[in-house]
Amino acid sequence: MQAFRQVFRNTVGAPTISRAAAALQRGGKFILDIALPPLCPSCREPLGGGAGLCAACWSKLSLIEKPYCARLCIPFTYDPGPGLLSMEAIANPPAYDRARAAVRYDDVARALVLGFKYADRLDLAPRMGRWMARAGSELLADADGLLPVPLHWRRLWARRFNQAAALAGTISAASGVPVLHGAIVRVRATPQQVGLSKSERADNVQGAFRVPAEQKAHVAGKRLILIDDVLTSGATADTCAHALLRAGAAHVDVLVFARVVAPLRSPI
Ligand SMILES: [Zn+2]
Repeated sequence: MQAFRQVFRNTVGAPTISRAAAALQRGGKFILDIALPPLCPSCREPLGGGAGLCAACWSKLSLIEKPYCARLCIPFTYDPGPGLLSMEAIANPPAYDRARAAVRYDDVARALVLGFKYADRLDLAPRMGRWMARAGSELLADADGLLPVPLHWRRLWARRFNQAAALAGTISAASGVPVLHGAIVRVRATPQQVGLSKSERADNVQGAFRVPAEQKAHVAGKRLILIDDVLTSGATADTCAHALLRAGAAHVDVLVFARVVAPLRSPI
């Protein structure tokens, strides 16, 4: 098969293979599974033994490491000293205190996150969650609870699992910080944020989250971490943090797998 692929590629080129594979996929996945081994969603090479991405693409994920803005986790090109904030954090401070992300949301991270979110790849949660636990170790050290950003029940029903809850489960196992299920709920279905500007995103999620009355005792006075897969404009995390602070939370941080770092290139 490998030799055949190589010959085929040399003859017709990789884009033709992708088009041929897409056509085959339309024709019948059963035929495709027999004809071709599973491909990495990022580079379209055979996945080999890799989970989610091939080994080469896992190593291409771009880790976010210090120095970065202490509040927004936007990487700095030089180290301005501890605790320094980005222009964005000063001009438009979020309701949450600190955000941390494992990797940049680039094309490789995007392929992984979309596979995880829309292709029932729950098996990726342990690996992604461990990377998040490492990136968020500072926040986890003094946290009382993890709160996965909730989906509206209709979207949860359609997608069958909440990817944020799956990540929170792994982070909880790695850190010992409990997951507070149901402490914040989505009371309004919001259209997908794809293609919206920063201010449209903020309007879109305004008032969409609430802490139920019976949950207020679990939130009041607590140091909490919101968990999600991607941080884009931060509008969703900001709205959740507002709701939690109004319910009496002492402190709200945000921990995500991937963070969009300007310029914004790809929609989620
Ligand atoms: Zn790959």
